[in-house]
Amino acid sequence: MILRSLIIAITLFSCGVSHAQETQSEEAAKRAELLRTLPDNAAKRLFGGVSNAAPLEARAIGSYAKGCLAGASALPVDGESWQVMRLSRNRNWGHPQLIRTLETLARQVPKLTGWPGILVGDISQPRGGPMLTGHASHQIGLDADVWLTPKPEQPLSKAQRETMPATNMVNASWMDVDRAHWTPGQTAMIRAAAQLPNVARIFVNPAIKVGLCREAGSNRAWLSKVRPMWGHNYHFHIRIACPAGSGEACEDQAPPPDGDGCGKELSDWLALQHKALFGPKKDGPPSRPKPPMTLDALPDACREVLVAR
Ligand SMILES: [Zn+2]
Repeated sequence: MILRSLIIAITLFSCGVSHAQETQSEEAAKRAELLRTLPDNAAKRLFGGVSNAAPLEARAIGSYAKGCLAGASALPVDGESWQVMRLSRNRNWGHPQLIRTLETLARQVPKLTGWPGILVGDISQPRGGPMLTGHASHQIGLDADVWLTPKPEQPLSKAQRETMPATNMVNASWMDVDRAHWTPGQTAMIRAAAQLPNVARIFVNPAIKVGLCREAGSNRAWLSKVRPMWGHNYHFHIRIACPAGSGEACEDQAPPPDGDGCGKELSDWLALQHKALFGPKKDGPPSRPKPPMTLDALPDACREVLVAR
């Protein structure tokens, strides 16, 4: 069962293995190469090419890794205790409820950590949908990446936000956090995010969950929402539940299992990750990539979202 869910996780959420910190020029080169080869009906080409929100009532349509977003709001790129990174990607759009959740977290973090605030990475495209680069999920405006690097004291310029590297918080063995960078602040921030009532899941690298399990203390209920995932060593991922009133169009995930998830599930993840990184490499030709999702694969309502003016 655990192996099955790991395999599902691998296919569904290869989000941000090394993507969070790529610079503007690295990202632009990847996008140009993709646009050269993608078919015209690839959903990521269509949704990746729209620069504004669909002027419709706010609605998350479909599931986290197959859907789109109507009536998105943009997280302001500068807030009193947050800054949005990599502005050239234009991915600071989300369902209004997610944007409020991020603003709430950003206001809590300075009080809990003493940091000036948080750095926000990719949320969604203006109309959601699959993205040209990175992320299987983030499609319906209910997922957001927050950097594990604190917001610096001095506000970052637009140029700095394109190039500043994020910090890898995992040590060289990939079995624990890197104590050279990890502080109680990261634990406090992730705990605060997990405790927000509409947050359904948080994704972190298994090595980061090791640190959280150790530092959680006696109140451990929040750890059940914090799920191990590939990557997520530069940022963590916040996923909220379908907002009330979304109707059947928005598909929630089953709730995470009870318990803190610090036992066998975590040790299995660590072993799997270790094998993937350091184990023998498979011989033979690389597996052929799946063809990209077309517009037909998304819920019908996403066609209206794509063309709404
Ligand atoms: Zn993410």
